Amino acid sequence: MKKIQMVDLKGQYEQIKERVDTSIAEVMESTAFINGPEVQAFQKELEEYLGVKHVIPCANGTDALQIAMMGLGLKPGDEVITADFTFAATVEVIALLGLTPVLVDVNPHSFNIDIKAVERAITPKTKAIVPVHLFGQVAEMQELMRIAKTHDLFVIEDNAQAIGSNYTQADGSKIKAGTIGHVGSTSFFPSKNLGCYGDGGAIFTNDDDLAHTLRGIVNHGMYERYHHDVVGVNSRLDSIQAAVLRAKLPHLDTYNHKRREAARKYTRALIGNPKITTPMICDICDCHVFHQYTLRLKNVDRDALVKHLNSKDIPCGVYYPIPLHKQKAYADERYNENDFVVTNQLVQEVISLPMHTELDDEQIDYITKTVLEFIDKA
Ligand SMILES: *Cc1c(COP(=O)(O)O)cnc(C)c1O
Repeated sequence: MKKIQMVDLKGQYEQIKERVDTSIAEVMESTAFINGPEVQAFQKELEEYLGVKHVIPCANGTDALQIAMMGLGLKPGDEVITADFTFAATVEVIALLGLTPVLVDVNPHSFNIDIKAVERAITPKTKAIVPVHLFGQVAEMQELMRIAKTHDLFVIEDNAQAIGSNYTQADGSKIKAGTIGHVGSTSFFPSKNLGCYGDGGAIFTNDDDLAHTLRGIVNHGMYERYHHDVVGVNSRLDSIQAAVLRAKLPHLDTYNHKRREAARKYTRALIGNPKITTPMICDICDCHVFHQYTLRLKNVDRDALVKHLNSKDIPCGVYYPIPLHKQKAYADERYNENDFVVTNQLVQEVISLPMHTELDDEQIDYITKTVLEFIDKA
């Protein structure tokens, strides 16, 4: 059996090596390292794939969120609602811009932002909601857009974990995650579903004016060379990363399909065990692209299971072990523990199994057997 990796970037690279190596060599020859033709071509190809009018490439997914908030003109004192159970980047940029983060609890089944909690958190100062499509599953966007419309709020989708995921709308039509809100962001960090070989990110919008504003912000606030109309940042996707992404984008649907198949196999083996809750897998649509395959454990010593799996050469992860409202940087006396019942529980129960595009049946079999052996003995 091949050694099990949490994410197998090498195995995936080997399958596209020729195209990637040739494209990188071409960038080297062209020396158009910043904003070269590869970046522009990738932008167009991603716009087409997502069915969105504008893709604005940038340096990473954290910048993408920050720039989206800058572009919407959010100001210090504005309140921005986001999920308590997510990677810190989301709340980090809110705080960095002097905005007021308002963390709310999540849904125990989808792990995504709780709609009722969002509604309860809205005040006259609320300006935006940032749903995170956690672990690859799209949040309840239709409900969120309805709430946003009622209260005149912006919706910024943090789509770092769910690129390629489809959301089914009320009329049955499908729309890509990240293109539903006023603006969406993503990350091309190597381990993401569409990852490059360094840092990268992008912002999506269908709003022409906002797209124009964002294109200036990523480039020092310049709309005309050496005319700085707004305070911007330096946040660019480099041409080598764009070349890698162009090689991988045509495979994204296949990659996501492979992740979903691996998830199905995990679930088939683990479902029904009283100590395990497997993630929801929708049979009729592809709203989940399994950036992570995450279980909830009941009456299991998670730390002991992690140790046991590691001793059997099975890597695993705990995403995330601490709720954001309990992190030193984001703790605040405004928060009440009773408002975070689900997150407080999830951080103690979740465990993520290896998930990537190269998992084979033998590995999945070995992983699930090892998990069950430990759990049934404990
Ligand atoms: C990875 C990630 C980010 C940040 O992306 P970087 O490219 O690493 O800056 C933001 N939000 C979520 C939910 C992520 O998973």
